[in-house]
Amino acid sequence: MFARSLTLLACIPQMNIQKNFPLLPHNTFGIAATAKIFAEALTVSDLLNALRLGVRPVFVLGGGSNVLFTHDPAGLILKNSIHGIEIVRVFKNKVWVKIGGGEVWHDFVLWAVQNGYGGVENLSLIPGTVGAAPVQNIGAYGVELKDVFVSLEAIELATGAMRRFSHADCQFGYRDSFFKKEGKGKYCITSVTLSLTRERHRINISYGDIRKTLETNGVSQPTIADVSRAVVQIRSSKLPDPAKIGNCGSFFKNPETERAVLERIQTMYPKAPHFDLPDGRVKIPAGWLIEQCGWKGKRVGNTGCYEKQALVLINHGGATGEEVKKLAFAIIDSVEKTFGLRLEPEVNIL
Ligand SMILES: Cc1cc2nc3c(=O)[nH]c(=O)nc-3n(C[C@H](O)[C@H](O)[C@H](O)COP(=O)(O)OP(=O)(O)OC[C@H]3O[C@@H](n4cnc5c(N)ncnc54)[C@H](O)[C@@H]3O)c2cc1C
Repeated sequence: MFARSLTLLACIPQMNIQKNFPLLPHNTFGIAATAKIFAEALTVSDLLNALRLGVRPVFVLGGGSNVLFTHDPAGLILKNSIHGIEIVRVFKNKVWVKIGGGEVWHDFVLWAVQNGYGGVENLSLIPGTVGAAPVQNIGAYGVELKDVFVSLEAIELATGAMRRFSHADCQFGYRDSFFKKEGKGKYCITSVTLSLTRERHRINISYGDIRKTLETNGVSQPTIADVSRAVVQIRSSKLPDPAKIGNCGSFFKNPETERAVLERIQTMYPKAPHFDLPDGRVKIPAGWLIEQCGWKGKRVGNTGCYEKQALVLINHGGATGEEVKKLAFAIIDSVEKTFGLRLEPEVNIL
């Protein structure tokens, strides 16, 4: 199969296809790993050509801001670099925008804000690509991708067939979707269509941090640009910049649990923070649980827990994926022992 692949490599002159390709610049954790075969698709036909190489398994890579490589991945690493932003429908008060899966998410947010389209400003500065955004239904500051999502197009990796997914097909949940369940590893999302407001924007400043920052900025009637700026300010002050300190943002999901579990925790920690969920259950901030177990700011070898936010694991330099994984599972065990709650990684561990 490999000989066939090499022949095909020579037949696709325009495509960037490489053997033994270093992935260090392609993951925000800054982990050294090597792809056996790496292909970068600038178009859907590039993508189909890459699949025709016959190299399996295929792992679709966006910006590498939510993956932890613990070994050199087998098969083909297929980087989605399909670009383009197009307004596909115009309504009285909204537009539908179709965005290439390889567009950088934050660049798209800036484009939307600059053009006066509302809905994604709270999701400013989330790293990664548009194509990966539906995978974990990215969310921040009271907004999730599902709130603006219309549909997406994806190529099925096994057959090369194009499939359109509606909102319902994607089965969005908290940092979750069809693409993390039955659809995991089976599709490459080539474009995403979102619905954005043109006027009467739904300004969402329900998070106290945004309100405080707007107040400090002297803004009383915030526009979408004001909200985007405030979110960028907050995130830059709280989260490590992956260009300087390797990380993948929140390493764990915030656990959702029964109220009885919270009440049990409150007997020891009466001020335990939580958010009420519509179904009567509660969400407990994982960062708080980790901090109570003494991990915040702790360094273990070349990795550790970020000093300003315990939810973020960092690479102090030269960390291996195995080292980070070991720390993550030590934290999971420690939180479980203390609180009886098992944290779930948000990051895709490979
Ligand atoms: C500093 C920092 C802050 C962050 N803050 C947030 C936050 O506030 N909210 C939040 O939700 N996330 C956050 N993240 C996580 C990350 O930014 C998102 O998960 C983002 O959507 C990942 O995009 P990516 O292109 O880097 O995906 P990758 O890391 O490349 O891939 C992630 C997963 O998606 C799959 N995938 C990627 N592209 C495609 C595609 N085109 N088709 C199908 N599957 C695909 C991959 O196979 C993999 O399983 C943060 C990360 C960092 C480093």
